[in-house]
Amino acid sequence: MTDLVVVGGGPAGMMCALQAARRGLSVTLLDRNQMLGRKLRITGKGRCNVTNACDTREFMANIPGDGRFLYSAMSRFGTREVMAFFESLGVPLKVERGNRVFPVSDNANDVADALARECRRLGVRTLRTSAREILTEDGAVTGVVTDQGRIACRAAALCTGGLSYPKTGSDGTGDGIAEELGHTVTPRRPSLVPLESPDGYCAEMQGFSLRNVTLSAYEDGKLIFRELGEMLFTHFGVSGPLVLSASAKMRRMGDADYRLEIDLKPALDEKKLDARLLRDFEKYANREFQNALGDLAGRAMIPVLVRLSGIPGETKVHDLTREQRQTLLRLLKAFPVRVSGTRPIDEAIVTAGGVSTKEVNPRTMESKLVRGLYFAGELLDLDAYTGGFNLQIAWCTGYVAGNAAEKAE
Ligand SMILES: Cc1cc2nc3c(=O)[nH]c(=O)nc-3n(C[C@H](O)[C@H](O)[C@H](O)COP(=O)(O)OP(=O)(O)OC[C@H]3O[C@@H](n4cnc5c(N)ncnc54)[C@H](O)[C@@H]3O)c2cc1C
Repeated sequence: MTDLVVVGGGPAGMMCALQAARRGLSVTLLDRNQMLGRKLRITGKGRCNVTNACDTREFMANIPGDGRFLYSAMSRFGTREVMAFFESLGVPLKVERGNRVFPVSDNANDVADALARECRRLGVRTLRTSAREILTEDGAVTGVVTDQGRIACRAAALCTGGLSYPKTGSDGTGDGIAEELGHTVTPRRPSLVPLESPDGYCAEMQGFSLRNVTLSAYEDGKLIFRELGEMLFTHFGVSGPLVLSASAKMRRMGDADYRLEIDLKPALDEKKLDARLLRDFEKYANREFQNALGDLAGRAMIPVLVRLSGIPGETKVHDLTREQRQTLLRLLKAFPVRVSGTRPIDEAIVTAGGVSTKEVNPRTMESKLVRGLYFAGELLDLDAYTGGFNLQIAWCTGYVAGNAAEKAE
């Protein structure tokens, strides 16, 4: 008999396991992978954006769904506490642009190894196996069925993650286990995900990346996102940091109409850009239009710009009309990309949807339906924008669950 079985050795599960062990519980941590924290090790492009050094109000502004559910957890294990926790485990941290927190070493393995080491030090038993079912009797947890047999326990914490990057272990079996126990799993959707476009010119420009552009996203004509940064064109549409962030705001894919506009010259307002065009056109007055854009746009984009402008490419620059110059200016300030959908969920950085927070006690992460059953991390119907907020959700919910699980008498 063990006090607590934690299913899933990702950030939420490891945090839950070690916190319970610190309180003297006997803890068994299950993961189907040999190595704990497989996904954690690839976060932040291998650097791990551990959390965000912001206050709770800003944290909440970065949770598009039911952020209020996290108030209690954040008040106990907020971003400051998370930072102090990792420093105390011997992982010095640094704060970068946008308050993003990374290990000084820029190595996500250091974060995962520190957690795994702390689990070991505290005597957490780690088993490499898959959980199939959680057993209950009279509405309370009694055991966990795994590929290797049954483990009797007083409490179980499901920390199996979402459906993204299933090769890291998060394949959605946890959703089924929760549903078997009567929990509602709200529809899973990809978030922080590349976007597909029906505009063939994206594929034409595949591999071409844009820096220092402003991306705007519209939902049914209403502006829902505008940020400066980087993005790139791909064979299916668009990707890159700006696109992933914009996708997190597109909560009604399939129902709403989404389109993007790229401001290729955000540093120049229309007047300044017009003056710049005039200068360029003076310089290249005797060239054909299609050969006069080299100073304004990347080579891969020029044929597309020419086509979308509707101006015949052979037009001599000195013959361009004011209206034609205005058309080009509008394209440079609002290059259009229609959105037909997202890439599949396994390519998403996070999975939205999950175990309904309505059926979980926000102070303990305990199920309101089954005694001794806890949830933490991306399995829950919670997700966030980029910036370390998704891991912060895993840390604080894992901490609260590990703190609440009771020791067997
Ligand atoms: C490429 C990438 C980069 C990211 N970068 C960042 C970042 O920099 N900052 C940030 O905040 N967030 C980032 N995220 C998101 C973040 O990684 C996740 O939100 C976070 O890992 C969720 O933690 P979790 O513990 O809930 O789930 P996971 O990390 O998915 O862990 C779940 C674990 O459960 C195990 N498991 C699942 N089912 C079973 C079962 N039936 N039996 C046994 N074990 C099981 C899996 O093997 C897995 O190890 C990134 C995600 C990706 C994919």
